[in-house]
Amino acid sequence: MTAPASPDKHLTLVVAAFNETDSLPLLQPRLTGALDGVLHDHGISGGILYVDDGSSDGTWAVMQALAALDGRVSLLRLSRNFGKELALTAGLDRVVRGAALILDADGQDPPELASQFVALWLEGYDDVHGTRLAREGEGWLKRATAHAFYRVMGRLSKTPVPADTGDFRLLSPRALHALGQMRERHRFMKGLFGWVGFNRIALPYHRGPRAAGETKFNFWRLWNLALEGITSFSTAPLRLATYLGLATALLAFGYGSWVIGKALLWGDAVQGWPTMMAVILFLGGVQLIALGLIGEYLGRLYEESKQRPLYLVDAWQPAAGVCSDQA
Ligand code: UDP
Ligand code: MG
Repeated sequence: MTAPASPDKHLTLVVAAFNETDSLPLLQPRLTGALDGVLHDHGISGGILYVDDGSSDGTWAVMQALAALDGRVSLLRLSRNFGKELALTAGLDRVVRGAALILDADGQDPPELASQFVALWLEGYDDVHGTRLAREGEGWLKRATAHAFYRVMGRLSKTPVPADTGDFRLLSPRALHALGQMRERHRFMKGLFGWVGFNRIALPYHRGPRAAGETKFNFWRLWNLALEGITSFSTAPLRLATYLGLATALLAFGYGSWVIGKALLWGDAVQGWPTMMAVILFLGGVQLIALGLIGEYLGRLYEESKQRPLYLVDAWQPAAGVCSDQA
């Protein structure tokens, strides 16, 4: 049962948490249970890495208490709230050996499946992603918008983003390494995972409701995440603006010829104010939309060009027995 000890055969559970004082104590026993299960089933040892994404409540203190209970727990705290995507990036950057399994702090991603994830990894898969069979505790509006987003994304982008797939996934060492090479500031993790490629497989699972606390993603944040996804992985909106411009220019040209022809044939009495207003407003609207679109991309280009670090670390507390080669 015990596999040969290889530096690659290790599993780190990476959990990003933002204001999760109530969820973490509920999660920890499930995580340690999952680690024990993986050790028992596959002979692979593991650890837990909590990333405190600049929480403003007692999350860091809770994490320290949990780390004191179990020697396999490492802690990382960011200097402020950077958002889940960057918190995960920071966590994955610290996984120096073996595979990583990403889970939500609220228990919505069942740690009990860790053994199944590892089994697929050992079969040779590099990106084992959990796909949701059901979205419990989420309103119809969220479900409908999520569905619409995945469809639009699928149409616009060449990078595969499987529907109903969150960040609950296992990454093999080489997938982790590839991901670590992508240092863009605007990070849409689901797209980045898809871009990496290698052997991908879906693992369907039942996603339960949040264990405690409230969702950190309101509609505004989700909308921004969707924008991020589309602009990071597709330039189709820019092309759409071009076509829209071409179509309106053609229409305007046709209409202009008609107006000029009419004036030449029958003279030019002053009239047609409503048509003129309609045309001006329409063209103005189209131009503003196209400008805004360009602005979205330009803004992102500006952010990238600043070359700032992706995140800043406030504290790094590796588990006993894990080498701390980074600070
Ligand atoms: N999270 C984070 N930083 C943030 C927001 C959220 O690290 O700025 C974490 C949060 O603690 C949780 C995970 O991301 O572990 C998913 O958040 P949430 O459950 O609120 O999202 P939902 O499941 O509702 O999409
Ligand atoms: Mg959640």
